[in-house]
Amino acid sequence: MRKYLLLLVLLISLLQVLAGAEIRGDELWLEVSLASGSSLELRQSGAIRITDSSGIYSRELSGNINISLDSQNSVSLYGIIGEVVQNVAMTDENYYTRESFAWIDSSLVIREESVALVYDSFHSLAEAQAFADANGISRSRIVALPMSGASLVARDSGGFQYYFESPLTIHCTNPVRLDNSGLSWTGEFRIKLVGDRLQINHIINLENYLAGVIQNEIGSGAPVEALKAQAVASRSHAVSMLLYNRHRNDGFDLCNGTHCQVYKGEHLLNNQILEAVLATQSEILTYNGRVVDATYHSSCGGKTDASHLIWRGQPTPYLQGVTCIDEADSLDLSHEADLRTWVNTNTIDPAMSSWERASQNWNRTIRNGALASRAGLDYINRIEIISRGPSGRILNLKLIGNQTKTYNSESQIRSVFGTLPSSLFYIEGNYRNLSNGGISISVGASLRLRGKGSGHGVGMCQVGTLRRAREGCPYTDILGHYYPGTTIRTDWLIHATR
Ligand SMILES: [Zn+2]
Ligand SMILES: [Zn+2]
Repeated sequence: MRKYLLLLVLLISLLQVLAGAEIRGDELWLEVSLASGSSLELRQSGAIRITDSSGIYSRELSGNINISLDSQNSVSLYGIIGEVVQNVAMTDENYYTRESFAWIDSSLVIREESVALVYDSFHSLAEAQAFADANGISRSRIVALPMSGASLVARDSGGFQYYFESPLTIHCTNPVRLDNSGLSWTGEFRIKLVGDRLQINHIINLENYLAGVIQNEIGSGAPVEALKAQAVASRSHAVSMLLYNRHRNDGFDLCNGTHCQVYKGEHLLNNQILEAVLATQSEILTYNGRVVDATYHSSCGGKTDASHLIWRGQPTPYLQGVTCIDEADSLDLSHEADLRTWVNTNTIDPAMSSWERASQNWNRTIRNGALASRAGLDYINRIEIISRGPSGRILNLKLIGNQTKTYNSESQIRSVFGTLPSSLFYIEGNYRNLSNGGISISVGASLRLRGKGSGHGVGMCQVGTLRRAREGCPYTDILGHYYPGTTIRTDWLIHATR
């Protein structure tokens, strides 16, 4: 077995650099994950150019192309991460280099770090897990290794096969589809082998990436000042996501889902979006010289909330919660009576689109049994709402029946009640005040919830951003309102250091 492994390691070696973020000119280029799998389908009516790792062997293929690992040398390799050395390129074969992002001297820096593997690589995940368990090593240190030199086979619709060594670079000027989502992609791509899966990434600069993000976030028809505010928030959020280094073992910099930000390429792209991105080029929000994680949400419902209450952790000065709709200012939404008054206040204005309207007032009827079963209880006869944040979102709640279940986060509360738009709601019926400041409410066979808002309520409110933009408010004022104390900067990108 060992011999077999070594032979494979000779044929297929660790990819020198795992993710491909780089600075071209003075632009930040990223690898954004589009899909992964044991094989990839590239559907197109034009032609794509595939170039292999040498950069010399290149072919143009037309029609639909299927790319898979050549079964002759099929191998999946896993490793256990040991020592990580910053800024030193190690030549030892048991090291591979991955990128990490850091914020140094008020700038974003792409660093390379050398990662040592404990023992050796493993043929399968199960082998790596068995080794980790036997040696008291945490399974969280097991990673799928990025491999280069693996033989990949591209089959065209006529059944012809072409062999390439991974990683591959692909250029296409015609739209290519990767799945049934209806989304298509053009430009430059990279296909690499990570563990036992093929990973396809879009190679794109940060500004074009943002153009493919903001229409999903705030709507392609939004007024341009709202699009600009969203562009700066999304750019800041993207840079923060890079700094969390959450994908540094995955072979890409950002994913295209809600985990990072939803990225749909040129889908719904229009001139207003391009104008908003261009007019705010390189602008990010900073606080005390550091980029701000400019988180945002659909609709606060009246006031935004404080990040440390919604997500715990240290209070963040620019995410403390602000009033979004002036009429809510005189109310203390953390108190049940004021909260009920506010939820029943009509905040719809005629300029709102349908999704904005839907977030202003919502109702749900939930069967006691369904709620109990999601909570793992037989029945529920009482609910205690212990505390609410400044936006009115419920932060702590108890479901009391044959046992008591306690929920201490807005996301848990939204999910136990069945994927609610927000935790800003009350349960209809009379309540009594508890000595701890909370309230208690008896519940029958069904519960009726009345709520407002959509999303976690922290940072910029998109419905409020749209309203302010329609009223003629410039994007800089919108950002200053939702992220108080922050400064816009453009000079934050510097070249990689070793
Ligand atoms: Zn992600
Ligand atoms: Zn709002």
